Amino acid sequence: MTSLLLTGIGSLVTNDPARGDLLGEVQDAALVIDGSKVGWVGSRRDAPAADAALDLGGRAVIPGFVDSHSHLVFAGDRSEEFEARMTGTPYSAGGIRTTVAATRAATDEQLTANVSRLVTEMRRQGTTTVEIKSGYGLTVADEARALAIAGQFTDETTYLGAHVVPSEYADDPAGYVELVTGPMLDAAAKHSRWIDVFVERGAFDADQGRAILESGIARGIQARVHANQLGEGPGVQLACELGAAAADHCTYLTDADIDALASTGVVAGLLPAIEFSTRSPYPDARRLIDAGVTVALATDCNPGSGYSSSMPFCIALAVREMHLTPAEALWSATAGGAASLRRTDVGHLTPGARADLVVLDAPSHLHLSYRPGVPLVSQTFIAGRPV
Ligand SMILES: [Zn+2]
Repeated sequence: MTSLLLTGIGSLVTNDPARGDLLGEVQDAALVIDGSKVGWVGSRRDAPAADAALDLGGRAVIPGFVDSHSHLVFAGDRSEEFEARMTGTPYSAGGIRTTVAATRAATDEQLTANVSRLVTEMRRQGTTTVEIKSGYGLTVADEARALAIAGQFTDETTYLGAHVVPSEYADDPAGYVELVTGPMLDAAAKHSRWIDVFVERGAFDADQGRAILESGIARGIQARVHANQLGEGPGVQLACELGAAAADHCTYLTDADIDALASTGVVAGLLPAIEFSTRSPYPDARRLIDAGVTVALATDCNPGSGYSSSMPFCIALAVREMHLTPAEALWSATAGGAASLRRTDVGHLTPGARADLVVLDAPSHLHLSYRPGVPLVSQTFIAGRPV
């Protein structure tokens, strides 16, 4: 096992609560990578010797971004739908069916190449852990293949057979729920760490959502929910009732929803690139944080409601549009994402953590929102290796 000393770090974000402030920042810092893990963190002048050293010349280092919500296994393009939306056509869940048709028609090689392209794009922007959902196949074979492809790129695979009722089941939604909780789950289970459902008008109601999530939980697959995106609804309460890891979107919340999130510890996943791309109101992130809810920021990268793979863009939106402090936004994009995925090995840079880190072409993390749209990621390390 070889060790690498990163020194000359202008500002290091550790997310170590023992250091006092939210981000556990260390100025004029150094960090030792031991094999795939963080071996040592501290002030540059106290740094131990290592097999090799790299002087970062005052650049900032942050934990790699943990993107806890994405839909990367798809084919086709919905740029014309985006264009129509920008001239007034509202977003609806039905657009998902457009991507379903294109995805079913694609070859395994085409789908794999598309995921590979997007994961590479994410890494270049500092993402080191990504959750990837199925949900554009919606047949037994197509969902299983989407999850098998996702599993080539991440351990955080999510079965989303309940994304929308496909058109061939339009007259028999109950029959589709039976498929999702039966044969489709059988085929998906071995490829899935998570199960998810889109609880929304035009998608699935609370009883359908409960049946779907419970079918997965009974197989040892943990739950997460698409909740309260397009209006108030039962999604958040369902996530809290079933002990889901996360309720994602949370755009329209009642006081009772916020109380439930705070008291159960279900993570609220906020996906501001979707509000940006659908020209919708942003979730009230301040109210969530002030109520003690754990917030994760994620891209929700998908070809319909928001096709950004950029966590720095989400951070800039969270600061500018949702009134998070830059520190809260960065924490939510790293430690918050890890909490959403129930991971303790990523999202922070303390000894023993996986050495997933990002070197910024900037003196501090503040530049992520201060310089929106600028490619500030100089280098990304995953498990101690530059990628
Ligand atoms: Zn989503």
